[in-house]
Amino acid sequence: MRIIRTLPELKVALKALRESHKSIGFVPTMGFLHEGHASLIKQSTARCDATVVSVFVNPTQFGPTEDLSRYPRDLERDQNLCLRLGVAILFMPEAAEVYPTGFCTSISVGPIADVLCGEFRPGHFRGVATVVAKLFNMVQPDLAFFGQKDLQQTAIIRRVVKDLNLPVDILVAPTVREADGLALSSRNSYLSATDRARALGVSRGLFAAEKAFAGGLRDADQLTALARKEMAGADEIQYCRVVDPFTLDTLGGEINRHVALCAAVVIGGTRLIDNILLTPNGENVQFISHLDV
Ligand code: AMP
Repeated sequence: MRIIRTLPELKVALKALRESHKSIGFVPTMGFLHEGHASLIKQSTARCDATVVSVFVNPTQFGPTEDLSRYPRDLERDQNLCLRLGVAILFMPEAAEVYPTGFCTSISVGPIADVLCGEFRPGHFRGVATVVAKLFNMVQPDLAFFGQKDLQQTAIIRRVVKDLNLPVDILVAPTVREADGLALSSRNSYLSATDRARALGVSRGLFAAEKAFAGGLRDADQLTALARKEMAGADEIQYCRVVDPFTLDTLGGEINRHVALCAAVVIGGTRLIDNILLTPNGENVQFISHLDV
């Protein structure tokens, strides 16, 4: 595995891969890797000849009062995990490499960036869309892998790829959870034991709605109310909504198509997000390919 920190080095390494006609899979991350990231890397190594993982805590997607400076980091552990999983290139640039002096261009995403997390994190998805597009241009992958855990991010990246004709296919892999249901997240490391117990209400709420949905309940407001009840131990429920998984439009009333139930809560100062997909016909939509757009 090559550990690369600069763009010129990355260019040389990628040129060699391309000249030997290797397909390239790409997994962008902010590091502090866990089994959720590992699942994306495994999807990539299974489908592509060479996998590139980036570890970059992107400053432009953090608001002024958010956790940029204390975002968890463990580069040695990240390197070991990537090595173990057969990653070809681990790209770990400094902020100045990604945003050199004079940088001033960014991607303004449409209304899908202003709802859900966008309401509470203004400018967040501008930062995400811009850095992901930049990383796509740096790596030029054939396939890029994202987690369903960040459902709004996947909708936005698909939109950006389509709208800007970026030559990459997007694959979305299911959310990896702890045995008790908590969705894996680098930010779980902020949680005290009591906060972690409260955080379990999020997945419990989503699963309660999923169970009721499987039992025939189709009313979006009743499903949301069921989920919110389990999440009541949170300090704040920022949102808990049934949405279209691609447009992110909030849906009310009778559900008769594939939707997502998405939630964001704050517990002990830590913001957590999670979601589940609900499919009326029980079809397996766990792994959604770009073809579904
Ligand atoms: P992050 O490092 O949090 O920016 O996440 C990098 C990628 O890993 C994103 O595509 C996330 O959606 C994905 N990811 C994060 N947590 C999980 C999880 N629990 N299961 C699956 N994918 C995840």
